[in-house]
Amino acid sequence: MIPALAPHLPDLHEAAEREPLGLYLHIPFCKDRCTYCSFVTTRDAGLKAAVLAKLNADLRLWGQALGRPEVDTLYLGGGTPSILSVEELGALRHAAEAAFNLDHLREATLEANPGTLDQAWLTAARRLGFDRLSCGVQTLDNDLLARLGRIHDGAEGLDAFRMAQEAGFHRLSADLMVGIPGQNLERVIADARTLVAAGATHLSVYMLDLDKNCPLKAQVEAGKLQLPSDDEVADVFEALQAELPTLGLAPYEISNYARPGELSIHNTRYWERRPYLGLGPSAASHLGCWRWTESSVIQAWSEGRGEAEVQPLDAAAALAEIPLLGLRMHRGVDWEELRARAARLDLQPLVDAWEAALKPFLQHGLLERGGPIIRFTNRGMLLSNTVLETFV
Ligand code: SF4
Repeated sequence: MIPALAPHLPDLHEAAEREPLGLYLHIPFCKDRCTYCSFVTTRDAGLKAAVLAKLNADLRLWGQALGRPEVDTLYLGGGTPSILSVEELGALRHAAEAAFNLDHLREATLEANPGTLDQAWLTAARRLGFDRLSCGVQTLDNDLLARLGRIHDGAEGLDAFRMAQEAGFHRLSADLMVGIPGQNLERVIADARTLVAAGATHLSVYMLDLDKNCPLKAQVEAGKLQLPSDDEVADVFEALQAELPTLGLAPYEISNYARPGELSIHNTRYWERRPYLGLGPSAASHLGCWRWTESSVIQAWSEGRGEAEVQPLDAAAALAEIPLLGLRMHRGVDWEELRARAARLDLQPLVDAWEAALKPFLQHGLLERGGPIIRFTNRGMLLSNTVLETFV
């Protein structure tokens, strides 16, 4: 249990009773480290037993502390959850079921690396009740995959989808990366088409992010590789915005496209500010008036020594999160509802200030207003970070 939260357990307990939670488990292990990765993960399999023991113990502790609350979405992310053995995966699933009420689970997602999958594992995972697979395909171009340090090739990316369908997974998502050095527009569009034809019902389209120190960033800084220009990247995103709906995948969030009814229920809760509990190193939680993030030092976390970051949310901070997260959704934010909520909290000046700050973005066509709804235009989604800074 996180010491700073202990005095607030009654509040957290009450919040967990109000509506079902999402449960996220972070599996911080990978077979090899990708050249661009800044996630909390390690190749050191020697830490696995301690991390899994702590995850199982935390499931028990939190389940007891919150009174075995209802969980309606389960998500194993990483790292690489598909690196777990069937026994390890089953133990976690059973520990989650013992500690939380999963009777009305609406979705159970596993993130997977195509280079770690086989038919038997997928079949066992499906039998354990996981019904959605999110595959880190990134691209189907073997040269680019090698540049990214991925442990699989394009054929294995597609094979993962074939095996998953054979195992009974029908909800299949692929991560697609944009902005890789050497990547061209035609290739991204061709990959998206191939993945949808192979069974993807959901695509997450990400920009290569070299914010933190990583080998790929060093190569770019040394002039050995060149990133595509902002204009080239914008062209790719615009082409995808036009192409994906023709393949039956509609945008529902800045980075996410899905067939009707196939959006990620778990991830949508983040943007809707619905409660979730994250367990594992670097895992984030939002419950009641609190947000917290567990220590990202894997060994320290597994030994119970890591320090969590705990952030109380006052009324103004909670209000700011509504447009900050809600505008990411394609459907936008009901501004009149936001105004009414601000009035109840005596925070109208905050909304007035935001509205003034958003005016230029509305005038320049990055945002659009339809009735009470404010939302991004297609062009605005490409520059969303600039707009969303308004609420930070
Ligand atoms: S598989 Fe994902 S988490 Fe693991 S090293 Fe690669 S990018 Fe990082």
